[in-house]
Amino acid sequence: MSFIKWLKDPARVILGDGSSGTELIKKGFTSGKPPDILNIQNPETVKSVLKSFYLAGADMVQTITLNANYLNLRKHKMADKLKEINKLALQNIKEVCPKGKLIVGEIGPSSEFRDPLGSGTFEKWREGFLKQVEILEGDDGEGVNLWHAMGFIDIEEMHAALSAIKEVSSKPIIASFIINKGKKGFYTLMGNSLIQCIQLLEKEEVDVIGANCDPGSTLFIDLVREAIELTDYPLSVKPNAGKPTLQDFKTVYNQPIEVFVRDITSIIKLGVKIVGGCCGTSPNHIQSLRKWIDSQS
Ligand SMILES: [Zn+2]
Repeated sequence: MSFIKWLKDPARVILGDGSSGTELIKKGFTSGKPPDILNIQNPETVKSVLKSFYLAGADMVQTITLNANYLNLRKHKMADKLKEINKLALQNIKEVCPKGKLIVGEIGPSSEFRDPLGSGTFEKWREGFLKQVEILEGDDGEGVNLWHAMGFIDIEEMHAALSAIKEVSSKPIIASFIINKGKKGFYTLMGNSLIQCIQLLEKEEVDVIGANCDPGSTLFIDLVREAIELTDYPLSVKPNAGKPTLQDFKTVYNQPIEVFVRDITSIIKLGVKIVGGCCGTSPNHIQSLRKWIDSQS
């Protein structure tokens, strides 16, 4: 299994992808529905986006399935499409994944908050993820090569997602929270501290501990500095391209690519094993990172 080999190679930095969502918006996708539906409605566009990240030099690219869990799809009245979306998401990425590169099963939050904000419970969450994970695992495990549970802000929900993944799959897991810097330090929106997040992921024995999305790449340097004091696990970092601004009612990321690359290179020098990008990051970001990583070896 090449992912574990890469992970254990001290000389290797593993490069992930950028934001498929951002690329799909650039290609004109504007609906309020999750972009996951495009796996069915517009597989050619989906494949071209996925392929562009592989061609940019990503070692691994994620399926477009961040929202394709049962509870999230049900919110959008698309629960009946769960099987088809995940099946095609897998098929689409398999068609464009070059030999020697990897496919990552992307699992994201259910958008159902826990009681009293919503009706989320461990069991409900777990069951919702289970339906999705079973499909992405593929028949006889022929599906994704590894998992990335990302974008979580509640340690209970992350726990539920990991429990579902581990029930059907023995493949490696990267697990990432969204952790922002507030007055008290780094916390998730639901009030889980960095140390609580790390403790859960160590207890669950994931393969890589990560963070993605907010804050922008520059604050991630501070986050990584704190995290490496708290854990010896390999780390994964996929920040947004800086802070978003609103322009003509659209969210735009104006951070120059050079600033993103400079921040990520500082993060790699701190010892982070896996890097990539979240909102606002394009194949150009990944290509620039590829060039820098290759220039170091
Ligand atoms: Zn993001």
